[in-house]
Amino acid sequence: MLEHIPKTMKAVVYPRPNEFEIREVDVPIPFKTQALVKIMSSTICGTDLKILAGEFPGVKFPHIPGHEWSGEVVQVAEDVDELKPGDKVGEEPHVGCGRCRRCLEGLYNLCENYGNIKKGHAHIGFTVNGGLAQYCCVSIKALHKLPDNVSYDEGAFTETVGVALYAIERANLRPGESVLVIGPGAIGLAATQIARANGASKVVLAGTRDERLKLGLELGADVLFNVNKSNDPITDLKSIFDGAGPDVVIEVAGTESAAELAIRSARRGGRVVLAGSTSPGRRLSVDLSVIVRGHLDVLGSVANPKWVCQKAVELIAKGHVKVKPLITHHFKLDEFGTALKTFKEREGGAYRVMIHPNS
Ligand SMILES: [Zn+2]
Ligand SMILES: [Zn+2]
Repeated sequence: MLEHIPKTMKAVVYPRPNEFEIREVDVPIPFKTQALVKIMSSTICGTDLKILAGEFPGVKFPHIPGHEWSGEVVQVAEDVDELKPGDKVGEEPHVGCGRCRRCLEGLYNLCENYGNIKKGHAHIGFTVNGGLAQYCCVSIKALHKLPDNVSYDEGAFTETVGVALYAIERANLRPGESVLVIGPGAIGLAATQIARANGASKVVLAGTRDERLKLGLELGADVLFNVNKSNDPITDLKSIFDGAGPDVVIEVAGTESAAELAIRSARRGGRVVLAGSTSPGRRLSVDLSVIVRGHLDVLGSVANPKWVCQKAVELIAKGHVKVKPLITHHFKLDEFGTALKTFKEREGGAYRVMIHPNS
């Protein structure tokens, strides 16, 4: 039996920067290539804090946030036969226009029509409304079917794991190579597990707080490295990798110092993927000879293109990437304020908080 879809729903709305409220708004109706999804699990990440603070270019207020979520398809547009009501899906936020050169190359995360809704571009939870609401209407390009054994909570990490997987793909990691992951957040812990699953010989997870790092051991890191406890982090890190440094560095911490550490600790001829600083304003000061004479491949990585998220879902389904240990708190949509505070202040050892708009 088809589910009854209400006319209005509850949603988190940012009326202007630094303010939020729970509002009753219209449930959107899917048109052309879209599906309406009943949101079951929706998490918040560091980027949501930047969006709320008004620091993310392209976000217009009032705005419904939420770009890492999962749910059940309840309605599809007439032209959609790829998904049907009842399907369980996880979401990725980037929907390319599908007509610019980058999109035609498959790199829709780099769409040249960013923010241009008329041309078909959407960045869910950024330039268009997101999933911190009871329902969300998005292009089916953003949706990935979840295997039966993947729960809604796990499915909400479709994008997070996808970001980590793409950073590893950018690094061209090969079995037997050593890896340093900088940044023990959700993406870093996913990257740690993917490096492990790819046959890395050694995975070191670096960060600045022991309580964030410790989950790394459970999830496949061989060594934890607290940067704040070292007088000379570069030498100390290199020494963990036989004095030479790691073959591959994945930086997902998003600070200048993390990016510099990434570049300066890689082995000569190594590959460094910088994936943490996704909004403007951060600057590097690195001796260029470290890159030039060090023969480094320094690569930027943002979000993910090319169906990477579907592969991420498969990694979750197969147990190669465990995301359940990252979820420390659960909230209802009405409790968004508490959820946000808990996440921001890391109250009660908060790692990732999960919001359930329909419970
Ligand atoms: Zn995010
Ligand atoms: Zn495009």
